[in-house]
Amino acid sequence: MAEYPYPEPVVRITDARELARDLVVIPNQGVQLVPNIGIIGGTHSVLVVETGLGPRNAETVLKFAADYAGDRKLYLTTTHFHPEHAFGAQAFTEFATYLINRAQATDLATKGTAYLDMFAGLGEPVARQLEGVKLATPDVVYDNSYDLDLGGRVVQLRATGRAHSKGDQVITIPDAEVMFTGDLVEAGQFAIFPWFPPHDTDVSGIRWITVMEQLSATAPQVVVPGHGDIGDPQLLADVRNYLQLLRDETWIRRDSAMSKETIIEEVTALMIERHPEWTGREWLEPGISCLCAEHAVDI
Ligand SMILES: [Zn+2]
Repeated sequence: MAEYPYPEPVVRITDARELARDLVVIPNQGVQLVPNIGIIGGTHSVLVVETGLGPRNAETVLKFAADYAGDRKLYLTTTHFHPEHAFGAQAFTEFATYLINRAQATDLATKGTAYLDMFAGLGEPVARQLEGVKLATPDVVYDNSYDLDLGGRVVQLRATGRAHSKGDQVITIPDAEVMFTGDLVEAGQFAIFPWFPPHDTDVSGIRWITVMEQLSATAPQVVVPGHGDIGDPQLLADVRNYLQLLRDETWIRRDSAMSKETIIEEVTALMIERHPEWTGREWLEPGISCLCAEHAVDI
């Protein structure tokens, strides 16, 4: 099995902190394959955003959320189907109503098993967390938008359309001006492009740019990324600017008939020079390859 060079992908509830009134985040503290997790309360219900990787992480999140909720009703949602975000949902069965957008439900049903196998191959600590995963079926599925009333607080669930995956959704809490973006935004690192041809080519750099423009227009004060430090609207602009630059530099070279190898080499060097402090350099090649395959007219 592959060497896994990162810390154990374990959710640590001791790091939980209140971001706004009745709104808690369990930050990922920069740990790979741990997402930022949200717990959002109203007078009669509480919504959990993301499960963590596998059933044991999800049980930790569920216990924390159930204690926090007291006698309030529990809901669960996930920003997209990737394993560290959604592959713990089974732990919430019987305890919470699992609510997601239709495109994500389709991703989970059609690609969940392949992702389970792929992630289990990443290394022993990941495989251990994925042991016993049973892919959950959502209780409620919506098409494009859903307003969830938690009691005195309405949370907006919005499907963005294809970007980081086919089934991305963002969750906004208007009264607190907070937005959970899932992996549409990662702070302090190069955007994650799950471009794995021929198995998965759903990620779209072009659509992703459009989605970032739309999210910026809604201007939340606080942005909780899928991974990395919580920030402000600048995080949305950073991702949009990066993706636009990646697109432009890739397309200029592609259209001058440069070899793909040289495009990857040159654009990678340029992006690292632009963002020397960003991690996730392994996502540059998939990102450039994705954009090489994309044409504005196809989208
Ligand atoms: Zn993801």
